[in-house]
Amino acid sequence: VVREMEQTTAKNLPKSAVQLTHPDRIYWPDEGVTKEGLANYYAQVWRLMAPYVVNRPLALLRLPDGISGHQRFFQKHAWKGMNDHIDEITDPKDKGGEKLLRITDFDGLVALVQSAVLEIHPWGTTTNNWEKPDMVTMDLDPGEDVPWENVIAAAYELKERIEGEGLAAFVKTSGGKGLHVVTPLEPKAGWEDVKGFAKWLADSMSQDDPERYLATATKAKRSGKIFIDYLRNGRGNTAVAAYSARARPGAAVSMPLEWSELTTEIGPAYFTVDNTPARLDALSKDPWDGFFAAAKPLQKRKR
Ligand code: ATP
Ligand code: MN
Ligand code: MN
Repeated sequence: VVREMEQTTAKNLPKSAVQLTHPDRIYWPDEGVTKEGLANYYAQVWRLMAPYVVNRPLALLRLPDGISGHQRFFQKHAWKGMNDHIDEITDPKDKGGEKLLRITDFDGLVALVQSAVLEIHPWGTTTNNWEKPDMVTMDLDPGEDVPWENVIAAAYELKERIEGEGLAAFVKTSGGKGLHVVTPLEPKAGWEDVKGFAKWLADSMSQDDPERYLATATKAKRSGKIFIDYLRNGRGNTAVAAYSARARPGAAVSMPLEWSELTTEIGPAYFTVDNTPARLDALSKDPWDGFFAAAKPLQKRKR
């Protein structure tokens, strides 16, 4: 683990063959984060991030003129002039359909930066095993007036329920307004079962504490409740990747945390492109150390 962390230090950053054109192009004006700044951020996090973005179908949020520009495309398919380091792949369930996108290495990630991809949203599966997801993402979406402590409490509540099913739970900030609780799975169960499990978690949370939790998106806004968004877990659905930047003011990122770090000291957009290198330097190990080693098969059970 120590060796793994040393590899993230400046001495040993990955290099890319992909040429950045206009490296000074501004992506986040208020923070002054440029194309080159974003590429440098990804070089710092690459070794921790790679398992969550490599060899997965991707949906990409592209903002060619940065977050203040007018163009904003949520893309699942190739675009004109797309760099060769971004793969086009055929969905085995849609062989005649438009191809999907994947990256396989750091060059692919830099190619995304070059194309003004400011958010990366993978499927919860790898292309080695399309029909068998390897993670469940529970997305905690607080209504406008929900105190942050309650969002933290909801994450712990989910953790307990997930662990009660014999599975592991990891937490990350969304980089937006909430938290994501992520469970690694051995890729054994299919999409229906995995989404069913996620829905069961959300339903049981809201049934046991309907004052705090909602399992349906309708009326989630301004309800004062937390929507337990389980809908990231169907085939073709996505959630923002661990370590992905967010195309919102602040240049926040979705940051994996150790559970002990989940306090009121930090908020959902606390970690950013700017402050992450200092965070990595201060860490003694990967905050999601052992994520894939903790994967267990989803048990079939009556729900
Ligand atoms: P927050 O904490 O603000 O809820 P989030 O990442 O959980 O942040 P959103 O960015 O609102 O939530 O996105 C919700 C989900 O919908 C994401 O996981 C994403 O993969 C997907 N998504 C985002 N934008 C689009 C879009 N334009 N079309 C389809 N799906 C989208
Ligand atoms: Mn959310
Ligand atoms: Mn959501």
